[in-house]
Amino acid sequence: MSQPYDRVFNFSAGPSTLPVEVLEQAQKDFLNYQGAGMSVMEMSHRGGAYDKIAAKTEADLRALMGIPENYHVMFLQGGASLQFSMLPMSFLPEGRTADYVITGAWGKKALEGAQLVGKTHVPFDGKAGHYSDVPDLEGLTYTPDAAYLHFTSNETIQGVQFQSDPTLGAPTVCDMSSDILCRPVDVSKYAMIYAGAQKNMGPSGATLLILSDAFLQNAPESTHPMLDYRLQVANEARYNTPPTWCIYICGLVYAHLLERGGLEGVQKRNEEKAQLLYQAIDGSEGFYKGHAEKACRSTMNVTFTLPSEELTELFLKEAKGARLDGLKGHRSVGGCRASIYNAFPKEGCEVLAEFMVRFAQNHRLAGV
Ligand code: PMP
Repeated sequence: MSQPYDRVFNFSAGPSTLPVEVLEQAQKDFLNYQGAGMSVMEMSHRGGAYDKIAAKTEADLRALMGIPENYHVMFLQGGASLQFSMLPMSFLPEGRTADYVITGAWGKKALEGAQLVGKTHVPFDGKAGHYSDVPDLEGLTYTPDAAYLHFTSNETIQGVQFQSDPTLGAPTVCDMSSDILCRPVDVSKYAMIYAGAQKNMGPSGATLLILSDAFLQNAPESTHPMLDYRLQVANEARYNTPPTWCIYICGLVYAHLLERGGLEGVQKRNEEKAQLLYQAIDGSEGFYKGHAEKACRSTMNVTFTLPSEELTELFLKEAKGARLDGLKGHRSVGGCRASIYNAFPKEGCEVLAEFMVRFAQNHRLAGV
């Protein structure tokens, strides 16, 4: 089953598959963007052509996610990882506590950033269960008057995902790096959402921030310029040169999702895709073991192990031979991980599911 341009099925956790139509559009625009006489890569971030790209990108994202007007939308640099420091540096003042719910490796890193800045509290840490589960966020005990509550909607490495937006008492900050745009979200439940671009949106190089104006008012009047949310907002995230190419590709992805009918449809397709793989795991009579508890299985990162290291190596080798690329699990969890973000084709999940069934049959029969 050959793919356009002889592409492989790319299960990489990020940077990851982008829609072929978006890549084709970028290719068409590459040397001369809509008559501008230059590539988007070559144009000034303060010129008219780029102004239009930036404005449309933001408008399309607002339409796609239903972002209320009292929220700022910005693309910053430094990856989602910079937000692990920047967030507490601005929003965790002395004498206050920030609460961090830890459901995997990224939440832990976010916590470590905050611990360098101020006082933190951890209402839930899934470490004892190897981060295979997520709690009921609304049932946890938080610090009264917490500066903010932080959680990670989808843990990319462990493959556990919260299934809905929580309603919490304090300003809620969410790292949505690996599942933003995978389903509709009620933005008004959050004080701040942030997400690296390189999974569901575009190439690496930009971090999307959706920041409520009310929350912004808690930031200090001034701080180091590149770490200053207020300054970035005041300069429409163009205090310095933004990652223009990355933002342009994100814009193409947003337009593409809008053309396909928006996020409800995206969610349905994602659930169908993930289901194919979880069925292969559940139907394997224990040959494959899913890492995540069923109730919090991710539709973005499907994590599973095989009976032995040797079989895992063989599985990965044979999968690669079948043009199923990037299935090796993160070193901290082991086994395999199939990252099947929005742009990953359903056909690729069908091919992998069939491959998994066949592999299990062959190796169970061989008595390994
Ligand atoms: N949070 C999550 C949930 C992630 O998956 C990642 C990257 N895989 C990060 C944060 C860090 O992102 P970046 O590499 O853009 O700093």
